[in-house]
Amino acid sequence: MDIHISRMHYPVTTLGPGKRIGIWLQGCSIHCEGCISMDTWQFNINKVSINDLKQVLKTWLPQCDGITISGGEPFDQENALIELLEFLNSYNKNILVYSGYSFDGLKDKKLVQSGLIDVLISEPYDHTKSQTKRLLGSDNQQVHFLTSLGKSEFATYLEQPLEKELDIHITPETVWMAGIPINGMKEIAQASKENNVTLSHSQAVTKNK
Ligand code: SF4
Repeated sequence: MDIHISRMHYPVTTLGPGKRIGIWLQGCSIHCEGCISMDTWQFNINKVSINDLKQVLKTWLPQCDGITISGGEPFDQENALIELLEFLNSYNKNILVYSGYSFDGLKDKKLVQSGLIDVLISEPYDHTKSQTKRLLGSDNQQVHFLTSLGKSEFATYLEQPLEKELDIHITPETVWMAGIPINGMKEIAQASKENNVTLSHSQAVTKNK
């Protein structure tokens, strides 16, 4: 089976406890206002075979502490994600998945019922809401411990105060960022402007699936 991937990074240290593999899926039908990942909205690009993906992931999995899957909207590729998570689960690492759908709409889905996800963060990003909790872009989002492993690995982590934390990697061609910026991109854009840095970030693509 194939899956559409925006990017993968290791280590990511700001989206859950420890050094994690971060996988951003490509394609999102939700389109929250203020989304900082608009480059992940477009469907039908960046297709890879899950078997090829496994070969890359095998180099990181033995050393990682967990896996975080974001997007894009992971549940827009539910069947492909189930196949990927079945492979990842064989390594006994905790798995956090973000979704912009409401938990009411997700709770009966095969993927949520499967036991393959340890922690699920649901609900769309809402830029009008406050942001006071770790791992959440806005306080309307909900954390669901779907396994005992998820609760044991994340409960204490989530009680710690929200800090300004971002992973930033710079290459000659680009800069990538992982984590939940405070106030979306506003503070980063302001700081960049004050330092005469021109910042361009991801743009919306409006093609739907
Ligand atoms: S669900 Fe996530 S990727 Fe999709 S628009 Fe909302 S914040 Fe952006």
